[in-house]
Amino acid sequence: MQYEAIKRQDTEVYEAIMGEEIREAEGLELIPSENYVSRAVREANGSVLTNKYSEGYAGRRYYGGQEFTDVVETLAIERAKKLFNCQFANVQPHAGAPANVATYFALLEPGDTIMGMDLSHGGHLTHGHPVTYITKIFNFVRYKMKDVETGEIDYDAMLEVAKKERPKVIMAGFSAYPRELDYAKFAAIGKEVGALVIADMGHISGLIAGKAVKNPFDFGFDVILTTTHKTLRGPRGGMILTRESEEIAKKIDKSVFPGFQGGPIMNTIAAKAVAFEEALHPSFKTYAAQILKNAKAMEEVLRARGVRMITGGTSNHLILADVFGSLGVTGHEAETLLDSVGITLNKNMIADDTRKPMDPSGIRFGTPAITTRGFKEVQSARVAELMVDALEQRADKNKLESIHSEIKELCKAFPVPESFV
Ligand SMILES: *Cc1c(COP(=O)(O)O)cnc(C)c1O
Repeated sequence: MQYEAIKRQDTEVYEAIMGEEIREAEGLELIPSENYVSRAVREANGSVLTNKYSEGYAGRRYYGGQEFTDVVETLAIERAKKLFNCQFANVQPHAGAPANVATYFALLEPGDTIMGMDLSHGGHLTHGHPVTYITKIFNFVRYKMKDVETGEIDYDAMLEVAKKERPKVIMAGFSAYPRELDYAKFAAIGKEVGALVIADMGHISGLIAGKAVKNPFDFGFDVILTTTHKTLRGPRGGMILTRESEEIAKKIDKSVFPGFQGGPIMNTIAAKAVAFEEALHPSFKTYAAQILKNAKAMEEVLRARGVRMITGGTSNHLILADVFGSLGVTGHEAETLLDSVGITLNKNMIADDTRKPMDPSGIRFGTPAITTRGFKEVQSARVAELMVDALEQRADKNKLESIHSEIKELCKAFPVPESFV
């Protein structure tokens, strides 16, 4: 029996955890930044390592008693380096956003310029959204897509802006962009203007580790930032990888600690080590490839049924659909309606959206979690059909009920697995 002690001691928290267990088991998770971790990852994350303060790095800690924390952190680092083919890894960032901020402070001076993808074209909040404090310290300039129907980035405009604004760092990365970036072009522009090129691969690092998409390090990128809990299927956390420059890696280590964070979350670092070992397993390659196949299967259904997709489709794990333009239902309405039939995804602004962020034109969804459940193309396509059915026939209560039962049946047939190796 799981959660025995919590059950005995604290019914309120116990019931909330059990509620979440059931929600995850019985609903379909299509939020593209979410996944299900193995029981081994959860055990490591729930281990006694949470009791330990380990400020510093392996072999150079501020407190004693580090014989096991050093083992755990070193394992995580060595496995990360192998996974991403690089020479340095900092596995201490508490999450993706802190990894980004620590990196900016490691490599830039206040007032310096960072170039990132426009938020409305798929970029992430940490790449210069005005609501983030980091914009008070650094100057952000943007690049965009040239054509929202194909997703091609406007590299000519990017070079022009870069020449004028002289960014010290160019960020390649996104949280709502369904295509691959042309890393060679980023690297060339960086070289031309003397900027470091950094890839923020929060969403797709699992696809990179599983070799389903390109690795920015193969194109001369200096640094990769990532979360560990999305396609990489590890515990909630962040990580900073450096290809080969010891100078950069040292600056990053200093910036993460003591510059930015206090003690590392060693139980989570142990869970990262376990997840990275899983990702080194050959089955992870199959998993990563299947994520893409499943997204393609959903794309084909949406196209056949006349739903407009930003960039025309997908080359990764996610799809951004213009449900307002195609079906007359807003992103917020679609999110709520699909939630009511057991499908969880999120509303999202589409490129150059005329609607507001809290009720935009689009929905964003993806296949990492359903692929972990064992879905193949057939089931993924069926889910896409059910989604469009629900949105088209949203007034028909009976129809929605029958869709909900079918989703529950699918979930029952594909339980969340306990282990992947
Ligand atoms: C998810 C994500 C982040 C933020 O990660 P958190 O763990 O939520 O802080 C940053 N950048 C990109 C590209 C992401 O996808």
